[in-house]
This record gives sequence, structure tokens and C-alpha cells, in this order.
Amino acid sequence: MLTLEKVTKVYEHQRGVITVLQDLDFAVRPAEKVAILGPSGSGKSTLLSLLSGLDRPTQGTVKLLDQDLGAMEEKQVTKLRAKTIGIVFQQFHLMSHLTALENVALPLRILRRTTPYEKATQALEQVGLGSRLNHFPHQMSGGECQRTALARAIVTEPPLILADEPSGNLDSQTGDFVMKILFDLVSQTKSTLILVTHNEALSQWCSRRLLLKGGKLHEV
Ligand code: ADP
Ligand code: MG
Repeated sequence: MLTLEKVTKVYEHQRGVITVLQDLDFAVRPAEKVAILGPSGSGKSTLLSLLSGLDRPTQGTVKLLDQDLGAMEEKQVTKLRAKTIGIVFQQFHLMSHLTALENVALPLRILRRTTPYEKATQALEQVGLGSRLNHFPHQMSGGECQRTALARAIVTEPPLILADEPSGNLDSQTGDFVMKILFDLVSQTKSTLILVTHNEALSQWCSRRLLLKGGKLHEV
């Protein structure tokens, strides 16, 4: 599904450089559920941005479905990402001027899929938001916004879901509810999941747990 070989990521600052990832190797098989743990600042979000082709490594290779992202044009990477990856962020990242339904239909419309609003309605029903279709993000609770973001991530039926601390902005009860929905969806669709979390308990729901430390991943 995904392979990283000898990936290094260096950020340049005015006062020098910091190496966030160093010579990192990582492979994920289809339908695996992988938790990535690590303290704040250890490079978890950086790693996800490289996996999804949102950013490029300083050195090394990232392959998604056997395609080398480094050898592709930006436009091709964007297209591959839209077709293969659903992403959920800690801060939801919904479009504030669009309703829940319009937010979820958007990736389908970009991919020119048929009946986007019907499919978006079904996805919102799957996350229990059938009664919130015409609500704007500011009219919904944090948990409802994150469930909308989950619906948006799965509506294109991507083989890979990336989730970056999806419950990080929610109280623990709401967070657990959202995570349960996420795991139910992933099990139903048999998609691959890479979940960044610093919640030990949540990481136990995954089949594989890795700790990001010193620029590398370690089995835990
Ligand atoms: P995590 O998600 O584990 O908290 P991040 O991947 O966000 O960690 O950040 C890892 C390190 O890289 C941090 O020290 C952060 O300050 C730095 N960093 C992240 N993004 C950038 C950037 N765009 N430019 C410079 N430094 C960055
Ligand atoms: Mg982060």
C-alpha cells in the first residue's frame, strides 16, 4: 500500500536546520491498522504530510500503491491523493461557508463522480448525521464537525485513511465516540488506516503500534 525508504526530512530555520525524520523506513500492507505514537514535536504530522504527498522528503523515496511520488508532477500527486487517500485532521478543516452535505459532496464533485449529493447523504447517515445535512460547521458541535470530516474522508471509498489526532480537539467521551465510528467505517470498507495519536488506549485498537522517536519509527 505504502513504502518509505530512507526518508529524511529537514526543515530550515533562520537559525539553522532541524532534522525531523532521519533515514526512516516504513511499509504498510493493505488493510493494516497502524497507530503512530510520539510526543508533540516528534514529527508525526510531518510524516503524514510526506505519506500523502502534501510535502516532499529532503531525501528518500515515498511510494503510494507502487507509484513513486518523487517522480511525479504536483498535479499527478494531487490526483492520486484525491483518489486513494481520505484524510482527517485534528482541527476538522471543514469549509466554513459550505453545509455538511456540501462539504462531504466536494471531493466527489472534484473527482467528477456521479450523484455526489446522494453519496454524501449516505456517508453522513453512516456517521449518524442524517439530520444535520444542511447545517454549517459553526452550527454544529466539535464532535459533529469531526463526524462530518470522517464522512468526507470515506465518501470517495479510498483504500487508505490517514488520521492525525482526530480526537485531539474533543472531550474524551466525544473523542471515543468519533474513534469508534472511524474504526467501524475502516472495518466495513477494509481500508488501511494510519492513525496518529498520543492516546495509548486508542492506539490499542490498532493491529500495529509504532513510536516515532529520534527521527525513526520503533515497534512498541
Ligand atoms: P508532531 O505532529 O509530532 O507534533 P510536527 O511534525 O508537527 O510534530 O513537527 C515536528 C518538528 O518540525 C517540530 O519541531 C516543528 O516545529 C517542526 N516543523 C514542522 N513543520 C515545519 C515547517 N513547515 N517549517 C519548519 N519547521 C517545521
Ligand atoms: Mg501533529
